[in-house]
Amino acid sequence: MKIKSLLLPSFVAVIVLTTACNNNKKQHEMATQNTAAIFPEGNKLPGDHFTGNAFLHPMLAKDNNNEFSLGCVTFQPGARTHWHTHPKGQVLIVTEGEGFNQEKGKSAQTLKKGDVVNIPADTQHWHGASTSSKLVHVAITNYRGDENVVWLQPVSDEEYNQVNKK
Ligand code: MN
Repeated sequence: MKIKSLLLPSFVAVIVLTTACNNNKKQHEMATQNTAAIFPEGNKLPGDHFTGNAFLHPMLAKDNNNEFSLGCVTFQPGARTHWHTHPKGQVLIVTEGEGFNQEKGKSAQTLKKGDVVNIPADTQHWHGASTSSKLVHVAITNYRGDENVVWLQPVSDEEYNQVNKK
């Protein structure tokens, strides 16, 4: 009689504890996922202006309020833009990973989470991941008329490896 009356509360306690543990695990998994990426990866960018695997999540198109487009770009390790210019400049906000921004004729600037890059108008440059890390940045790209980018030649492996050596 005594044993039976003890068994039932113990059984209930085990169920309650098990459920609590599972909830904690789920909450932890959700928190981990939420800190991994702020925005979705989006769609793979075609290879005509990018080297390697780069993805774009479009966020805002130019409209009556805004003379810029807004998008989040994810570069897998080794991926980068081709050389290019922006007729009215561009701002990058790094949200994840590590990489580079390089203006033609200058040494590359290393990029990490939280960095803000102000790219002047009509300045030849490229940006992308390092060989060992992905890079995720939000890009705010200003328009002159209907144009916000002029694409140029690819960043050669030699140019890219030189930057990664340092
Ligand atoms: Mn750019």
